[in-house]
Amino acid sequence: MATITEPITTPAVRETECFIGGKWTPSVSGQTFSTINPSTEEVICEVAEGDAADIDLAAKAAHAALYDGPWGKMDARDRGILMNKLADLIESNLEELAALESLDNGKPFADSSTADLPLVVDCLRYYAGWADKIHGKTIPVRGDFFVYTRREPVGVAGQIIPWNFPMLMTAWKWGPALAAGCTIVMKPAEQTPLTCLRMAKLAQEAGFPDGVINVVPGFGPTAGAAVVKHPLVDKIAFTGEHTTAQIIQREAADTMKRLTFELGGKSPNIVFADADLDEAVAGSDAGLFFNMGQCCCAGSRLYVEESIHDAFVERMLESIAGRKLGDPLDPSTQQGPQVDQAQFDKIMKYIGLGQEQGANCAAGGNRFGDRGYFIEPTVFTGVTDEMQIATDEIFGPVMSILKFRDMDEIIDRANNTMYGLAAAVWTRDVQKAHKIANSVRAGTVWVNCYDAFDAAAPFGGFKMSGLGRELGEAALNNYLEDKTVTVALS
Ligand code: ADP
Repeated sequence: MATITEPITTPAVRETECFIGGKWTPSVSGQTFSTINPSTEEVICEVAEGDAADIDLAAKAAHAALYDGPWGKMDARDRGILMNKLADLIESNLEELAALESLDNGKPFADSSTADLPLVVDCLRYYAGWADKIHGKTIPVRGDFFVYTRREPVGVAGQIIPWNFPMLMTAWKWGPALAAGCTIVMKPAEQTPLTCLRMAKLAQEAGFPDGVINVVPGFGPTAGAAVVKHPLVDKIAFTGEHTTAQIIQREAADTMKRLTFELGGKSPNIVFADADLDEAVAGSDAGLFFNMGQCCCAGSRLYVEESIHDAFVERMLESIAGRKLGDPLDPSTQQGPQVDQAQFDKIMKYIGLGQEQGANCAAGGNRFGDRGYFIEPTVFTGVTDEMQIATDEIFGPVMSILKFRDMDEIIDRANNTMYGLAAAVWTRDVQKAHKIANSVRAGTVWVNCYDAFDAAAPFGGFKMSGLGRELGEAALNNYLEDKTVTVALS
């Protein structure tokens, strides 16, 4: 895509209803809810508010599509062809979709068009390639038997996603589910329903049979909870807060649903004195401030070795100075608003706690402007491990810089958290890099990089950061059941 410099026209909103069984319908109750533009605090539009009644229809449609419709009988390679068509349609509507994402979520168009959308397309293509490469084994057993396994779709997949990467989370969920041959009941986040609905429309245009993909916008405790409880839904894939996952885990027990969770983090980002300082500063800046800090894997505990601490802080402050905050649809904007009032309030509370508990606010700390949920990029120095800004997930543009002395100390401190999603280490010493990579209990460790994602590389959490893995071959297994077939030969 050529570099765009002109302001992007506000995109038209087309899909605002539930998408169930291939039809666009108002919610059964007729209720709607407002989706808000976080940079103006104004209502963008009303969206159908689905609840248990709509989820029931969606689950039945997904069940019928799998067992009675063409999807369950379709050749695996044809599933892959449909997925590639969807990827192509998204690619050819990339600017419009990126603008819609920026409108609803507040992320800069510069990011949605160059990061989110290309990753969406890549993820769908990656999984399209898997569709006809999922197969079982023949197994030598004792006796005169022929034993083989089949890998069958787990069934109807219930997918519940958050608002921080609405389209990308949709792709991460749809990709492996569709490749595996499942059908889908998806509930997008109430803050950001628009792009998931648009993707459903493109899936319809691509030719997915009715009922394969169903999208029901609505709220967590109503629509989300109904997905979790529905007896026709076989599996839940959830991304969000660990406290919500705990509710889901309890609620899902009655119907023995398969569960995968991708949850929060407080990821240690460790900079050794021998690191390339320019790269470490740039990578740590992006590792925290990308997407306004609204990343589950944000490098929010930034540990810097004592001897370079002051130089690092100076460079970090230079790096964030002059960052352009403003309208996400202006292509030169580098930082947009937080997603909503609740997130804004939570982050401002943590900034207050950082100050009260004795950290030094070296940059930012305030609301930006008087309209929209903008917060200045904020850097705290002099942070210690027990302060709440060092222990709690803030999910905002708030960097906490901590000092460390040596390897033994930093491994213990890095692991001293209930989370275990990601970690990073910056060093030119290969021994230090591998020592950290082996010792930190986290699902991803980045060495001399941050947020380097690829659809082929698994992503997920140790400890309270999750259950199972997204992406790669690992995520396919979440959507498959092994069936063993034993044939007596005599
Ligand atoms: P976040 O703070 O990122 O919004 P949540 O865990 O609250 O994280 O929300 C993530 C997703 O989970 C959203 O789609 C939300 O509507 C949904 N959700 C919230 N509560 C529940 C629940 N009790 N059951 C099912 N889904 C829920």
